[in-house]
Parts: sequence; structure tokens; C-alpha cells
Amino acid sequence: MIGVLDLQGDVVEHLDHLERLGVVSRRVKEPSHLHDLKGLIIPGGESTCLSRLIKIFGMDTAITEACERGVKIWGTCAGAILLATRIVGEKPYLGLIDMEIERNSFGSQLASFAATAAIPRVASKAVPLIFIRAPKIRSVGPGVEILLQLDDYIAAVETADILATVFHPELTNNLAFHRYFSRKCGLTAEESPPLADPTWTPTSWTRHSRIAASV
Ligand code: GLN
Repeated sequence: MIGVLDLQGDVVEHLDHLERLGVVSRRVKEPSHLHDLKGLIIPGGESTCLSRLIKIFGMDTAITEACERGVKIWGTCAGAILLATRIVGEKPYLGLIDMEIERNSFGSQLASFAATAAIPRVASKAVPLIFIRAPKIRSVGPGVEILLQLDDYIAAVETADILATVFHPELTNNLAFHRYFSRKCGLTAEESPPLADPTWTPTSWTRHSRIAASV
């Protein structure tokens, strides 16, 4: 079973992707919910807010202990910020992967963008990537493998225990990263045919903000 930290951020999108792969999942709101998990996803959202909530709910030490017990952890965007040992200009939070990360490094929310990239370790075909007020991973320590380097920054890294991506695979219709993480957790992820969602486009994640803006 894979848990999705459910304190703030895009939780349902991760649960949806795991469900599409036939992977049993659970919302994680308190330390007892980590029981029996093989993996935990820390979603994107806002890292300052998430860092306060994980303290209030006692999840900071609980996540560190879970990692020591062998639970694999994947942080997307704000989740990746929480996992880093170094944050430019700020104190680190969980410090579970040896990397330096810089928050909001592309600029404001309006500088958010979609791209595609080949990540051979994760998928045989190029995968769509969504960057929303994303951080940049600036450097990694020994033992951290780089899965994706783009221009002047690193976008995806991993160790035996941790996966960190500065983009949001859960906001695309592509399941490759969720399949990859499930396998990292030792779970079988069903091979599903590509989703045929005629309404999906690389920018469909902006639909809600367009609706909000037009109200
Ligand atoms: N900018 C956010 C932060 O610094 C992260 C954004 C995201 O998770 N999409 O926490």
C-alpha cells in the first residue's frame, strides 16, 4: 500500500493515478496512518504551509522514522523541498535526501509551464512534465542519482529510498512516474493502456484557474 500525505496540496490527483495502476492507496493524515505502508508520496502544494502542518500533526518525526524503517518516499515539488537537506536561504525540513534546492526558482506562478522530456530510467517514451512555481535542484551529494537534468538545473533525482521531482506527474494523464515509484516500493503496478481522455491537454491543469479568473 502507498500513502499520500493528506495535509495540503494535490492529494486526489496522486490517489487517482495510483488507483488507475491498481495500487492500493491510503490518505495519510497522522502517524498511525503510516502503519503497513511500502511508500509515501508527499504532494506538491506550498512547502512553508506543509512544513508547519507536518509539525503540528507530528508527521515530521513519523516520516523520518518511516524512512528509517524502509518506507520509500516520493516528494513532488513542495514535497521535494521538504525532503532536501539544503534549501537556498532557508533552513531544511526533513533533510532526507542530500541535495540543494531553490524555491520558486523560475519566478512567479505565471512562469509555470508544461514540457516533455525523455527519462529512460522511468519510461520508454518521453513523459509530459508540469512545472508550477517550481523549485530547481541546484546540486546533489554523493549517492544521489540524477534522473533528469534540464538547462541549468536538475529536475528529478533518487536514492535507494527517496524519489524527488520538481514537476508534477500527477497533473498529467501519464502514469509512468507512479508506476516507477510503485515498483520502487516493491509493488506491482498493472500495465494499463494509455488513458484516452479527449479533454486532456498539456495545459488542462490551468482550466480551474481560467474558470476562477473569469468569475
Ligand atoms: N512554490 C511552492 C513552494 O515553494 C511549490 C509549488 C508546488 O508544489 N507546485 O512551496
